[in-house]
Amino acid sequence: CANNYLGLSSHPEVIRAAVEALEKFGAGLSSVRFICGTQSIHKDLEEKIARFHQREDAILYASCFDANAGIFEALLTPEDAVLSDELNHASIIDGIRLCKANKYRYKHMDMQDLEAKLQDAQKHRLRLVATDGAFSMDGDIAPLREICQLAQKYDALVFIDECHATGFLGPNGRGTDELLGVMDKVTIINSTLGKALGGAAGGYTTGPKPLIDLLRQRSRPYLFSNSLPPAVVGCASKALDLLMESNAIAQSMAAKTQRFRSKMTAAGFTISGKDHPICPVMLGDARLAAVMADDMLNRGIYVIGFSYPVVPKGKARIRVQISAVHSDEDIDRCVEAFTEVGRKHGALP
Ligand code: PLP
Repeated sequence: CANNYLGLSSHPEVIRAAVEALEKFGAGLSSVRFICGTQSIHKDLEEKIARFHQREDAILYASCFDANAGIFEALLTPEDAVLSDELNHASIIDGIRLCKANKYRYKHMDMQDLEAKLQDAQKHRLRLVATDGAFSMDGDIAPLREICQLAQKYDALVFIDECHATGFLGPNGRGTDELLGVMDKVTIINSTLGKALGGAAGGYTTGPKPLIDLLRQRSRPYLFSNSLPPAVVGCASKALDLLMESNAIAQSMAAKTQRFRSKMTAAGFTISGKDHPICPVMLGDARLAAVMADDMLNRGIYVIGFSYPVVPKGKARIRVQISAVHSDEDIDRCVEAFTEVGRKHGALP
């Protein structure tokens, strides 16, 4: 149930890179970036992130929460509009709260509603559509092709939060925009270094150079928070090297996700979402999700039940997340355990 999608947090080369950075550059900078908190490794990592995403430039933050908190206020004025999916991550919601733009909330992945809101927002100077690339509670993927078409039609920019996509979605793990063939249509990407890319900490924005320059001047979490520690930079940088050398890890995770989803469906479970390593086993009842998760732990499998208020009432589930480091045997053992536990508690006939 970790976001360690590629297993890189325990990869020997990632760990070695962290130790080397720690020894060479010290524990930390005791400074924000623009005073004396920028080392060569920070600039190198920003350049590498931009290259990975095929964007012009990138800017690092202490977390993606900070990247989301900083971007909307820096970019949008009271003359602009932001259109946000109703199920966007809390940090996007908070970031939007901090800005003075006109706010529209469209129904989850509902393109008719987005179009209606875009029509209404034509009266504003600039429009920004903001969506998670992949939604973490349901494992569903935003319809980016349709979103980008609408954005083109109504002259809007597209922003995606790729925390649950960077490193593993798409043929080369570049993310949802690669998966859906719209890398050249999405303007801004925010993502995290704290999940697939080594799992330590850190976040970033990548996109057009003038936007990144603006964020360096105006984005408050960047300006007023400590620089990323060298060991963290070392981990993320090595994780990106590994992913740019080969797409084998991302591919192996996709095959394992497919194995889990198809075997669980064949066993009689309903798995929400499609093709994503977030595999929510839908159970409905909160107590059932909790007792089944406990019983799975008794069988050596660590999965967590989610219920209201984290997910809507009546939509309790056990969220399973597949990682490239799971073996096929691990996955089969997990399906067997779910089947036993499901029968015992009446989730399966
Ligand atoms: N955005 C999404 C969609 C997330 O799932 C998370 C993490 O939970 C974040 C942003 C925040 O990322 P970070 O942990 O780097 O602050």
